[in-house]
Amino acid sequence: MPYKFNFDLSNVPRQFFEDLIKASYKRNLHRRLAGSARTLVKKFKLEEITGLTFSDAISLVEDLIEIYSLNLLYKDKMKNKNKKALFLPHCARKYMDSRCKAIFDSSLSTYICQSCSEDCLINVATRLGKSKGYDVYVVPGGSCIPGIVRRGGYEAVVGVACGMELKLAAELIRNFNIPGQAVPLTKNGCAHTKFDLEELEKIL
Ligand code: SF4
Repeated sequence: MPYKFNFDLSNVPRQFFEDLIKASYKRNLHRRLAGSARTLVKKFKLEEITGLTFSDAISLVEDLIEIYSLNLLYKDKMKNKNKKALFLPHCARKYMDSRCKAIFDSSLSTYICQSCSEDCLINVATRLGKSKGYDVYVVPGGSCIPGIVRRGGYEAVVGVACGMELKLAAELIRNFNIPGQAVPLTKNGCAHTKFDLEELEKIL
């Protein structure tokens, strides 16, 4: 499920993400989570940089803290897994029209990237995932994930998506009792979404 607002965190200082991770370490009570989110929004002037309202910025940061907290919780459980899947969002493709040469596999609801553009985020992330031993799926939404995980018999998953989709996917994955890690989008929307490749590389 997408957010009702658009965000672009590309210009937010890297320190914000580092502080997010620290806030996630400290998270144990909901009241504390709300307090941490408010502090981060004010400290990094998120309303000013992103144009978000205060309440949208808070809700975005609360989701991000929750996602990073789950990453911390499952990080160690990712070790020594052989069968791993990486899920990438189709909206991060360089092109969303016929210029994208990806082939859509309807049986798995996934795009298979054909590497038509060197600077396409999905192309780079796909290559990265494969080089680290992941099967890579470029999916239109989180609802495709359970079917793919079931058919592939995966032991661990990594997903890139907006915060809301990641929370939904975490719920779905919980039924499989397998660990997961998530990389939240830094820019959402229906097209030209962005995520941090460096962050993805660290997780893989
Ligand atoms: S590199 Fe892959 S995902 Fe990107 S536009 Fe080309 S075929 Fe589509």
